[in-house]
Amino acid sequence: MRSFYCQCGGTLFFASVQCVACNRPTAMCPHCNAVRSMAVADDGVLVCDHCDRECRMCSNATQHAVCNCGVDASTEQTLCRYCRLNSVVPDLTVGDNLLKWQRLEMAKHRVLFDIERIGLPIVSEADSGLADDRPALQFEFKSSAIKPVSTGHADGVITIDIAEADSVHREQTRVEFGEPQRTLVGHFRHELGHYYWQLLVEPNSLDAFRSLFGDERKPSYADAQKRYYADGATPNWQGRCISAYATMHPWEDFAETFASYMDIVAVVETARHFDRTRVTADGTDFNQMLTAYRDIGIVANEFNRDMGLLDLVPEIHSEAIVEKLQFIDNLRQAAQKELV
Ligand SMILES: [Zn+2]
Ligand SMILES: [Zn+2]
Ligand SMILES: [Zn+2]
Ligand SMILES: [Zn+2]
Repeated sequence: MRSFYCQCGGTLFFASVQCVACNRPTAMCPHCNAVRSMAVADDGVLVCDHCDRECRMCSNATQHAVCNCGVDASTEQTLCRYCRLNSVVPDLTVGDNLLKWQRLEMAKHRVLFDIERIGLPIVSEADSGLADDRPALQFEFKSSAIKPVSTGHADGVITIDIAEADSVHREQTRVEFGEPQRTLVGHFRHELGHYYWQLLVEPNSLDAFRSLFGDERKPSYADAQKRYYADGATPNWQGRCISAYATMHPWEDFAETFASYMDIVAVVETARHFDRTRVTADGTDFNQMLTAYRDIGIVANEFNRDMGLLDLVPEIHSEAIVEKLQFIDNLRQAAQKELV
């Protein structure tokens, strides 16, 4: 993620709510689409120091401190465009649910910001309707403390078990399932992969998808899932799939590869912003982006090992995996063209 600048010259970050140098309030300006310092007018309206346009804080920011986005003051909206996508939020009268929600929103905002940046469409409930029968994206944050919740995607609705925001639970699950990484941003990227399969692959690119990832009808998802949990990953998966979990079914292979593509975009974009590479993640050259990611990965892995942390870039890109990543890059190119 890039960083931003306050009017005082201080550095602001994606989640900043105040400049630590001059204490000025900051927010994601809906007009600049960047984090900016803000002047506060008498009526509580914020005026962006950069573009001079007005916004109000998202009500999830003022009431729960789970967001730092501004909402265009000329609209009736109270929630920002990311918070409007929530259909179920955690019960805040329970334990540390507020803390969990804050972590979830932080990850969700970050991932959606990147999704928009690379030009993938986000269909909201307001767009979806008679004129637009594409599935609207929604988020449900549910607690498995009440009844079992499975994190997953169905018809545009992404459900997340809020226990995933508990780092002890997440690490236990990571070890149990033998995953090299398990993070909140990773969950959002993976589930969004399922959403974009339905939105972009199913209507237009099924044949190309099947020739690379396999036929999603045979075996059925339910049969594939049973087999995976009984027997584990298919042997020697490393050259064919990005992760063990991806071997379960072509849908999971796609979602895991999509998540990996989003990792690549995020890391290369960050490196470019901080002048660590000249390559951009804007979709102009897929092969250059992948090479830059590998080069950065070698250095970042050593930094992480220096600090006793897990590898930043654990995966190996065989030719078959590169082809799958390229397929996702092609979807992105097509989506970008449609937006223009
Ligand atoms: Zn400042
Ligand atoms: Zn602005
Ligand atoms: Zn918000
Ligand atoms: Zn999945």
